Amino acid sequence: MSQTRHTRTLIIGSGPAGYTAAVYASRAMLKPILVQGIQPGGQLTITTDVENWPGDASVMGSDLMARMGAHAHEMGAEIIADHIKSLDLSLRPFKAQGDSGTIYTADAVILATGAQAKWLGLPSEGHFKGFGVSACATCDGFFYRGQAIVVAGGGNTAVEEALFLTNFASGVTLIHRRDSLRAEKILQDRLFRNPKVKILWNHTVNEVIGSDEPRGVEGVRTKHVKTGEIAEIPCKGVFVAVGHAPATALVKDQLKLHNGGYVQVEPGSTRTSIPGVFAAGDVTDHIYRQAVTSAGMGCMAALDAEKFLAGMNGAKVSEADACAAATDIPG
Ligand code: FAD
Ligand code: NAP
Repeated sequence: MSQTRHTRTLIIGSGPAGYTAAVYASRAMLKPILVQGIQPGGQLTITTDVENWPGDASVMGSDLMARMGAHAHEMGAEIIADHIKSLDLSLRPFKAQGDSGTIYTADAVILATGAQAKWLGLPSEGHFKGFGVSACATCDGFFYRGQAIVVAGGGNTAVEEALFLTNFASGVTLIHRRDSLRAEKILQDRLFRNPKVKILWNHTVNEVIGSDEPRGVEGVRTKHVKTGEIAEIPCKGVFVAVGHAPATALVKDQLKLHNGGYVQVEPGSTRTSIPGVFAAGDVTDHIYRQAVTSAGMGCMAALDAEKFLAGMNGAKVSEADACAAATDIPG
């Protein structure tokens, strides 16, 4: 049965940004509700070892996120397994609707919806998605034991996925469109040293080829970016790791966006173009996109929300009043 829940602070997303916002908002006695979305714990739950979270030389991504969730819960945040399907920021209080049917109303919203994997956009990629084409090595790598695998991309994710896949594959070919990687040097070193990895520089994947009965990948057709030469690489699995796009579907027509769709915030703050709405983590960050920076922004968003709500003096106010309160926030 549908119900309406009111909260002073609604946090949308359960990655490092959302959980950190929940810790700080709870300690500010804002009694936040955090809605987890379809990926509880966020992107780090699909990776293995995280080696750059301060305080842990190495920690499993899923363990780290479980700890963050438990911390937020212990501080008093109400954590709800639901997914927000619509968000109306034209109303005060703001109104969100969950897939569960629950309506959430909130005086302040912290948007921490993170980012989602990008795809190459090839029709054949779509055709074989789930039948040999994947964007998550930790989820699907196991299916390709003893097989040849291709990874497309040149960033941290591509290199980590390629290295992880060497645990299963007979060999991994990393296909990158340039002649140097974007990934951190420490990861590049590991990649270059791994005897199971071959790198195909200056190539793009132009087509995924395979059979239909049963549906499965047989290889990829590649193109040299300079010569245009076409070649085929046999493989059973294709892992696409060409970056992540901000998850802004809920707000793209309501908030100002910039740099390819990231939520725009005032410099040095998490304030968006609508007073009372704050954005933190990968949904607003086109530069750093790290767990620790997302967590830092989650902290900022909770502190910004606290100041905003203090300006509202706890009362439900009109949009004009809310704008005035936001303008009064010290910089
Ligand atoms: P995310 O972690 O993306 O979480 C977004 C959350 O929003 C999810 O819980 C999702 O369910 C929720 N959500 C989305 N839409 C809705 C909705 N409509 N309703 C409700 N909830 C919603 N960074 C590092 O610092 N170190 C690493 O080692 C590292 N490894 C990585 C490995 C991989 C494979 C990937 C993909 C990324 C890695 N990163 C790493 C980057 C890091 O994961 C991100 O920077 C970080 O997770 C971003 O945190 P976030 O809280 O902004 O969003
Ligand atoms: P990314 O850093 O944006 O890298 C995307 C890669 O894909 C780039 O090499 C890019 O090529 C390539 N690419 C993009 N579009 C392509 C296309 N259409 N065809 C072929 N190649 C394409 O993305 P990411 O690796 O997913 O990382 C996202 C963020 O998470 C980054 O900030 C990263 O640091 C972070 N992260 C961190 C860790 C870690 O700390 N260990 C691990 C994973 C991710 P170009 O280089 O030519 O642009």
